[in-house]
Amino acid sequence: MFDCHVHTEFSTDSSMKLEDAIKRAKDLGIGLIVTEHMDLKYPVEGNFQFDVKRYFKEYGNLRSDKVLLGIELGLRTDCIDENKSIALENPFDYVIGSIHVVNGIDIYQDYFYEEKDKDRAYEEYFKFMYECIKEFDFFDSLGHIDYISRYAPFEDTEIYYDIYSDYIDEVLKMLSQREKAIEINTRRIKNKKAAENILAILKRFNELGGKYVTIGSDAHDTSYIGSNFNIALDLVEKSNLSVVYFKERNMEYI
Ligand SMILES: [Zn+2]
Ligand SMILES: [Zn+2]
Repeated sequence: MFDCHVHTEFSTDSSMKLEDAIKRAKDLGIGLIVTEHMDLKYPVEGNFQFDVKRYFKEYGNLRSDKVLLGIELGLRTDCIDENKSIALENPFDYVIGSIHVVNGIDIYQDYFYEEKDKDRAYEEYFKFMYECIKEFDFFDSLGHIDYISRYAPFEDTEIYYDIYSDYIDEVLKMLSQREKAIEINTRRIKNKKAAENILAILKRFNELGGKYVTIGSDAHDTSYIGSNFNIALDLVEKSNLSVVYFKERNMEYI
């Protein structure tokens, strides 16, 4: 197994040392892929960006078959070429494409939701996701499709496939046409309702021709590495998808 989503010191919001992450993964008997945050044009200047050259320089000697070096790109439609150069001109093993900032606002912020009901906010999120995926054909797996459910200020933040199916289908179709993977981000799936709703999306992905999933904890400290992987594997089995990871940008089966 590989934990395909781990943040260490090069990420603005993590102070985990790579050595500690490696030790934890080794104890668990899994590999890991470091996926540092790169959100170009982040609303707070310089946040969630890192020095890619220094990253490879400092982590290069810790790289191995079980320790791979990737990146989590924040997708947005106004700096596609810059993102493309970062993804393609550096020797990453793996590139996650994630939606964090929607139309200029990090959806972690309450004010993204001001004067929006849930449907309006979620529709905006999925429309933006679709527009980004359309432009970004250079990532390997779509990160945490349920990111909005972490932070939205509504009583029930779950994504119900049936309610947003028109939007979600467009996203899933494009991913499957391009043979991209979708991530099971394990942060929320301990919650039964969250797991059920993710499963509905994974099953639909399979129906639309999607084949691959990556599994990632999104750990920002060692205790989260590999968390809830048993639940993730259960979702994989129920949705008939295959678990993969990426090495030198090539898909590898687990
Ligand atoms: Zn993320
Ligand atoms: Zn992340």
